[in-house]
Amino acid sequence: MPYKFTFDLSKVPRFFFTELATVSHQKGVHKAVFKTTHDLIVKFKIQEATGLNLADAMILLEDLVDLQAINLTERKRFLETERRVLFLPHCSRKFMDNRCKAIFEPSIPTYICDHCSDDCLVNKADAQARSKGYDVYIVPGGSCIPKILKNNNYQGVVGIACGEEMKMMSHLLPIINVRGQAIPLIKNGCANTVFNLETLDKVL
Ligand code: SF4
Ligand code: SF4
Repeated sequence: MPYKFTFDLSKVPRFFFTELATVSHQKGVHKAVFKTTHDLIVKFKIQEATGLNLADAMILLEDLVDLQAINLTERKRFLETERRVLFLPHCSRKFMDNRCKAIFEPSIPTYICDHCSDDCLVNKADAQARSKGYDVYIVPGGSCIPKILKNNNYQGVVGIACGEEMKMMSHLLPIINVRGQAIPLIKNGCANTVFNLETLDKVL
């Protein structure tokens, strides 16, 4: 399910994400970080940078903090897994129309990248993950993920999507005994979305 608002954190200084990680670590210990999240919004002028109102900015940052806290909790168990998969969002492809040469395989369902554009984020992430032994799916939505996990006995999963989608998945994974790491999109909107490749490299 997408957020009811659009956001773009891609121009926010990298230091913001370092502080976000620190707050997330604190949340793993203390749980309540409402004031700190609010302070981050003010300090990095998130409302001005993104055009979000305070309520939406709070939802977004709380989700980012929650996901990072879950990542930290799950990290050790994730690193112990052997059979791993990366789920990429179809909305981060360079093209959403027939200029994208990926083949859609409806039986899975997934797009299979044809590597038509060197500067396509999905293409780069696909290559990055496969070089580290991951299987890769470029999925049209989150609802197909449980079936793919079950059919292939994956033990570890890295997922990239917007925060709301990732939160739903983070509740499901422990139930089916799969260890996950989440990478939230830093620009949403369901087309031309953006995630950070450096973050992906670290997580993989
Ligand atoms: S590089 Fe792959 S995902 Fe990107 S536009 Fe081309 S075929 Fe589609
Ligand atoms: S931004 Fe991408 S991941 Fe989020 S709901 Fe839209 S299509 Fe799905």
